[in-house]
Amino acid sequence: MSIKENIQKINKDIAKFADDAQRPSGDVKLIAVTKLHSPEEINEAIRCGVTDIGENKVQEIQEKYDKVNQVNWHLIGHLQRNKVKYIIEKVYMIHSVDSFKLAEEINKRAEQHQITMKILIQVNAEGEESKFGINPGELDELISEIQENCKNIEICGLMGIAPFYDNPEDARPCFRTVKQLFDKYKDDDRERVNFTTLSMGMSGDFPQAIKEGSTHVRIGTAIFGVRDYR
Ligand SMILES: *Cc1c(COP(=O)(O)O)cnc(C)c1O
Repeated sequence: MSIKENIQKINKDIAKFADDAQRPSGDVKLIAVTKLHSPEEINEAIRCGVTDIGENKVQEIQEKYDKVNQVNWHLIGHLQRNKVKYIIEKVYMIHSVDSFKLAEEINKRAEQHQITMKILIQVNAEGEESKFGINPGELDELISEIQENCKNIEICGLMGIAPFYDNPEDARPCFRTVKQLFDKYKDDDRERVNFTTLSMGMSGDFPQAIKEGSTHVRIGTAIFGVRDYR
């Protein structure tokens, strides 16, 4: 199937699963994950209505940025502090903040450019060793630290990645945990704490993520096909 047909199908699926969960389909936004795909493929996706794309590596954003048409870039992968300066003016939102030190660096660069950077805090709900993200127990403190000290950051919500399961239904408890954390801050009225975005769900498990309350799904393979990691 073509990129166009895949996007049409995903949009239909998103609407359907949102409807199943008694949510308006406009509640769930598609972020097309474009890592390892070419600027041509990305521009085709944009022609098909994609407004937001996700990349997991700073270098790929740098390489593709000038070749891709107007779109919101989301950094969804681990970010090293020394690379923040390369993307600060390029990205719309950073999904993978998991330490105060990283937030401080983002804040410093945002201040230099007189912008406010939107971020999500990545939560490692299952406490998996191999994964990035903070433990749920550390969330309160990190949000307060960032809120108090980083005036050029807006905390827009949380990001979660479920472990891989053969049966994606098994990912639901993980999504539910992140959603419960998200709900704790939904009515938080501190300045620059503005929980609108719950980034959960990928090609294999986005139906489950939507049923558990995700507002932004990050989908690569189901749009562009299997990535070639050569
Ligand atoms: C690659 C990636 C995705 C998309 O995964 P697919 O299975 O291809 O849909 C989503 N989120 C993150 C953080 C990723 O790195």
